[in-house]
Amino acid sequence: MRPSIDETHDPALSSWVAGANGHAEFPVQNLPLGIFSHPGGAPRPGVAIGERILDLQAIAVLLPAEAAARLDSGTLNALLGLPAAERLALRRRLSMLVSAETHRTAIEPALHAAPECELHLPAAIGDFTDFYVGIHHANNVGRQFRPDNPLLPNYKWVPIGYHGRASSVRPSGVSVLRPQGQGKPAEGEAPPFGPSTRLDYELELAVWIGVGNELGAPIPIDQAGEHIAGFGLLNDWSARDLQAWEYQPLGPFLSKSFHSTVSPWIVTAEALAPFRIAQPPRPGGDPQPLPHLWNEADQTHGALAIELKATLESAAMREAGAAPFTLGQGPAANMYWTVAQIVTHHASNGCNLHPGDLLGSGTISAPSDDGLGSLLEITRGGAEPIELPTGETRAFLEDGDTVTLSAVAHAEGYVSIGFGPCTATVLPSRA
Ligand code: CA
Repeated sequence: MRPSIDETHDPALSSWVAGANGHAEFPVQNLPLGIFSHPGGAPRPGVAIGERILDLQAIAVLLPAEAAARLDSGTLNALLGLPAAERLALRRRLSMLVSAETHRTAIEPALHAAPECELHLPAAIGDFTDFYVGIHHANNVGRQFRPDNPLLPNYKWVPIGYHGRASSVRPSGVSVLRPQGQGKPAEGEAPPFGPSTRLDYELELAVWIGVGNELGAPIPIDQAGEHIAGFGLLNDWSARDLQAWEYQPLGPFLSKSFHSTVSPWIVTAEALAPFRIAQPPRPGGDPQPLPHLWNEADQTHGALAIELKATLESAAMREAGAAPFTLGQGPAANMYWTVAQIVTHHASNGCNLHPGDLLGSGTISAPSDDGLGSLLEITRGGAEPIELPTGETRAFLEDGDTVTLSAVAHAEGYVSIGFGPCTATVLPSRA
């Protein structure tokens, strides 16, 4: 089932919640789900609206029974396990409660000022899988290693991915410690061990799994949408020096597992209904995917009109009050495989997904130089450092640097919705 456009997306819909109307990210048309705590309170499910967070536990009696029964927790896993139709019912009720004046007296006491609240991971993440479907990123990185043959033969047949590390995923705002590890040695020498000297970010779309599948039961592509609860942003911090040494033959390991940052709000699949667009056609001569990975409706509506952006702010820039430096900006549609194809591929061997599992798209780069999604690409492997407004240069990230990812979904005739920040500052390695 493809999420449909309904009264909750009406651009004329307004809310009585202060600051919601015209809010750049969280107008009433968005209603993303997350886990928050206010001073003195335990983490609990909430919804972002304007500069407020609505406590769902506090208004449970006003919500549909199926959703209300799954709110007594410091994670969204139970709620994410709801069938898509129940999540839609929750959205429609919430939309009505924060737009109709009749409910204002009942709802208002359950609203908290967002700046006073702490945001947590939205789910207890059982598994984190990172893909590699940003075609321009794969080409750019592949070209650095294999100039004549950047993409390996499997790339256009299977969505390439690997199992990431769930335990070190943290919400936006938690600082990243520079990892230590083994780098690639000079010919005939022992590898160096120490703080990474080639620390990088990766601009990715996060996918939150909703209803899971039983072990042994693949997910047909025409049902993949039923298993996708929503989307966010992911910074897959990467230590390129560690990665270059360790990645053969089994892929990345410690170069990625030290920390990953996610945006704390889950923008639901239902909220994104107006922003679904056609998957860009495959270049002529590319193979037709196997039948289990192909669905015409998915090709027509399976991509998202989301604009992604990454910025960098050094400690000196912060001190000088300089605006963050834009590293790259481009559309999320630069993915060779759709999210439905990724989910179907993941379960095609019978692997079971659980509510609250996290998938990363892989770094999304645009084909142009102003839309690259990692420093590895922007600085050509460190060979062409960028210059910041303070005159500082960066080949890779320095201690004190803050990287912030952001995203906005746009569509003609609809109110744009945002994802909230995915930000973190690099701190020195622990001695
Ligand atoms: Ca990645």
